[in-house]
Amino acid sequence: MKFAILHHRGCAGTRFHYRIDPDGECRAALPESEPGEHPKCIGILIDADADAAVPSDAQMDALRTLLLQLKVRYPDIQMGGHRQIRGEDTTCPGKQFPLTAMREWAGHDLVVERDALLQDIVDAQYRP
Ligand SMILES: [Zn+2]
Repeated sequence: MKFAILHHRGCAGTRFHYRIDPDGECRAALPESEPGEHPKCIGILIDADADAAVPSDAQMDALRTLLLQLKVRYPDIQMGGHRQIRGEDTTCPGKQFPLTAMREWAGHDLVVERDALLQDIVDAQYRP
């Protein structure tokens, strides 16, 4: 089981696999094969102060796109926020981050989008 763990600019951690810039650009920062802040986790840093405000629409769109890509490669991946990890005393990924809404999206819409994407790939193989 893999976990995608969300972080924001206020995080004390430094080892993240992906970084989503303020303009919504998503960059690979560390190979997924290398350990990040937490074992078995893919760390995603959203470069926004989400204690103060919700990240930008561009950042949230980029995050959903990245999670869709990860869901294709790791079908059983789960998503959570840094503060949900037992023993962590932090507000990360930010007090204003819409974590509940994102988890609901990841539990349903993400799976639907992933399945549609895989169906497109299968269909393309058998198109005459
Ligand atoms: Zn964090």
